[in-house]
Amino acid sequence: MTRQDEATPGQFGEFGGRHVPEVMEEPLDRLTEAYETVARTPEFRAEFRDVLESYAGRPTPLFRAERLSAEYGADVYLKREDLLHGGAHKINNAVGQALLAKKAGKSRLIAETGAGQHGTATAMVGALFDLDTEIYMGKKDANRQRMNVFRMRLMGAEVNEVTRGGAGLADAVDAALEDFAGNVEETHYLVGSAVGPDPFPRMVREFQSVIGEEAREQIREETGGLPDAAVACVGGGSNAIGLFHAFRDDDVTFYGAEGGGEGADSKRHAAPLAKGRADVIHGMRTRVIDDDVEVHSVSAGLDYPGVGPEHAMFRAAGRCEYRGVTDEEALGAFRTLSETEGIIPALESSHAVALAKEIADEHDTIVVNLSGRGDKDVEQAAELFGLDL
Ligand SMILES: *Cc1c(COP(=O)(O)O)cnc(C)c1O
Repeated sequence: MTRQDEATPGQFGEFGGRHVPEVMEEPLDRLTEAYETVARTPEFRAEFRDVLESYAGRPTPLFRAERLSAEYGADVYLKREDLLHGGAHKINNAVGQALLAKKAGKSRLIAETGAGQHGTATAMVGALFDLDTEIYMGKKDANRQRMNVFRMRLMGAEVNEVTRGGAGLADAVDAALEDFAGNVEETHYLVGSAVGPDPFPRMVREFQSVIGEEAREQIREETGGLPDAAVACVGGGSNAIGLFHAFRDDDVTFYGAEGGGEGADSKRHAAPLAKGRADVIHGMRTRVIDDDVEVHSVSAGLDYPGVGPEHAMFRAAGRCEYRGVTDEEALGAFRTLSETEGIIPALESSHAVALAKEIADEHDTIVVNLSGRGDKDVEQAAELFGLDL
């Protein structure tokens, strides 16, 4: 299934493509051209690598989690993306796109953000590369995440609190798209996951694939072979595709942990792959949650109604198994990893850790992508656990 599915770039089997209004076609064509030429040069790659090393903190370790392994009954290795600048993998993509924007002569970055993680990563690279930066954030989200709003402003970004509609992530996306359509000359829209119209899914994948490339080398060095399974959480799908890509042609089983929310029979979840249906959303054909479902996950980063189109293809082809991990299971893993290894994982990443437990019977060696650190989630977890801080 490998290469011919992408015979048309940006088309992942029946998924992906570009489903956008006419006015978006030309700016996306220009972005595609910049990506296919500039971003593929040895100079660009060297500079990208250099910034990831000197600024973001790559390479990240692959850590053999001994006590967690004993608890789960399989050898579990954690890819420590939580140790990156900003505390998550998002910086990989933000650096790549900002560098490309700079080379393409853009003077301005815009981005949407939900909980503020992607907005924060964008504010970082906006400062680093001296680009004007404007972040669209739903007013409701901004009120819940004042610290992230302050962080972004501290780094010089303008935070535009969107009050229209439900004042959430979807409304922030709409506002950012409108901005982009009106200011394409000087503006790059820094999309935060492997979602959206072509070329975003394949471009974000390329910038995140450093995760799997490193992990593949590290596990071979450590064990002399490849893992039996690779596990990652799936919101939009960027950390997962970044881990999986290097193992795509290997005999490695892939597992994607979606936000299973309140459980298998509930109408509150964020699991379009384990449950939803095929449809068009945010410029791409992919899988989405059903109309009568309220998008919900205990972790803000997984709280998205769609998913990157390549995952929809992986699912259709049986290349990856996607399962919903409930809020409760994720919170359990959050606690277990904290207690056994002294590593507090992001609630998003906790979904991947929980899924590793579920599959530990079937696999000897498992690589889990620890996409981010959980410092941001401690207050929420304490509340959910009923603990006093
Ligand atoms: C944003 C985020 C995610 C979800 O995004 P993907 O594109 O699916 O990777 C996962 N983990 C962390 C820590 C995040 O911040």
